[in-house]
Parts: sequence; structure tokens; C-alpha cells
Amino acid sequence: MAELTETQIEELRALILLNCRGLQELLDSSSESSKPVALDEPIGRLSRMDALQQQHMAIASRQSQTKRLQLLQNALQAIEREDYGECRLCEEPIGYPRLKARPETPFCLGCQGRSEEER
Ligand SMILES: [Zn+2]
Repeated sequence: MAELTETQIEELRALILLNCRGLQELLDSSSESSKPVALDEPIGRLSRMDALQQQHMAIASRQSQTKRLQLLQNALQAIEREDYGECRLCEEPIGYPRLKARPETPFCLGCQGRSEEER
């Protein structure tokens, strides 16, 4: 892996850790709103429907945050294994600018595009 310099890897590692902390805080602070809606609780102006919909959205965003956190943790492990920055599919270097924008991405732009088309 000649693509990333040590300095770049350190920079990306710091970025990943920062993102992890941010996501963890989001998850901690949103854990209240994704609790089941209590039937006997006064919910003010919101109808029960609205409350359920909000809860649904809170759960959906928690799921994507949890998934991203998992990817970030995988990326940290990849740094430990010294194969960070390598595409999981084609094994080509992902490239620093892309990693800088999305440090958790396990795929290069080409493979990401292909996997999104398959959905
Ligand atoms: Zn690839």
C-alpha cells in the first residue's frame, strides 16, 4: 500500500475517531426518542400517530448511525491490520480525497457505484 502516507493515515485515524465520538454522542442522546411510545403518557399536542412516526424516524436514523459507526470501527481495525485504504472488492487503493470525505468507506468509487446499482 504505497497510496497513503503515514501522515495521511494518522490524519484519517483522527478523523475516524472524531466521527466515532460524534456518532456515539448522537446515539446516546437519541436513545430517549426511540423508546416505545407509552400509551398512558400525556404526549401534549402530538397525536399518537405523530409520536409513532417520529419514533419510527428516530429508529431509522439510529440504524444508519449504528451502521456507520460499525463501518468506522471496521476502518480502525483495517488501520491496525495495515490494509486501510484498500478497496474490499477490487483491492485497488481507494484514494486519499475519497477517504478524507468518507473515512469509513470500504470500497473505491467504482465498486461503490456498482454495488449501489445492484440494489
Ligand atoms: Zn474497488
